Amino acid sequence: HVKRNGKNNYMFYNQEMQKELRNKAEIEGILRKSLQDDSIYLLYQPQVNVKTGEVEGFEALARLKDHAIPPNVFIQIAEESDLICQIGRAVTIKAIQQLASWRDKGYPRKPISINFSSKQMRDKDYLVFLVQTLKEYNLDGRYLEIEITESILLEETALTLEFLEQVKSLGISIALDDFGTGFSSINYLTYIPVDKVKLDKSLCDKFLNSDNTRVIDSIIALAHGLNLVITAEGIEEPWQYAQLKASGCDTIQGYLFSKPLEADSAEEIYDKNFLQVD
Ligand code: C2E
Ligand code: MG
Ligand code: MG
Ligand code: MG
Repeated sequence: HVKRNGKNNYMFYNQEMQKELRNKAEIEGILRKSLQDDSIYLLYQPQVNVKTGEVEGFEALARLKDHAIPPNVFIQIAEESDLICQIGRAVTIKAIQQLASWRDKGYPRKPISINFSSKQMRDKDYLVFLVQTLKEYNLDGRYLEIEITESILLEETALTLEFLEQVKSLGISIALDDFGTGFSSINYLTYIPVDKVKLDKSLCDKFLNSDNTRVIDSIIALAHGLNLVITAEGIEEPWQYAQLKASGCDTIQGYLFSKPLEADSAEEIYDKNFLQVD
């Protein structure tokens, strides 16, 4: 009886694994086609100043036209091939074009952050490409922010540090994304040239309650002690916002204010400029 169960389980896993492999190949195909057709696009999620309610900038989040595959899924698959480098470049161009378009329309200048996968360190000419693209659109680097994760430290450290220093020398700021989810050694915060930490949603969900705000309070104090701006991600509830405000958090990103928006809708937010919950 037990044996048969075991065998069924094995077959079940085997089928699941095959389905997953097929899925992976399928998604890779979709990604290649999306790159060819230029049908990857960006949504923009506002980042809101906790004290004033002012929109301080936007995070660009990649989507596939015609496919409801979530970025967590397609980015991971892209990272397992060389596709992430091409996607990274497509995202960079689109964000820079959007910045130029908002500038040309006369909107107040606000930075856009783009996500930079650690695997993009394989793209040796990315910096050259970045400089050229900024120049092509006559755009100052200070309107761009690059979000990295601490997994970038698993790449070759000297190269990574040099890359980050060069990014910064273009006036681009660097945010450390998903803070609190990885190995989170405090030490690296002292030698990576970051300007901002983004507190991951999982941490906010876990520690933002009235009984135990000390963890979040301490992280905010640590960030400020190191002269870093701190953003809280995935804020959905007014009480979370209230708590973060009391703790001195700088900016907030979350459905409470706004979901990631199409560029047109982001423009409406530009017109309003302020998002208020209370
Ligand atoms: P991330 O960079 O940490 O982005 C934040 C994610 O949280 C986004 O998911 C955003 O839509 C979601 N989010 C924001 N506020 C809330 C909220 O209040 N509640 C909930 N439940 N979710 C919220 P999204 O767009 O699905 O992206 C997921 C991840 O995929 C990103 O996490 C990032 O790691 C990756 N990703 C997205 N676009 C790109 C890209 O262009 N390049 C790279 N390398 N990665 C990307
Ligand atoms: Mg991000
Ligand atoms: Mg994040
Ligand atoms: Mg994330």
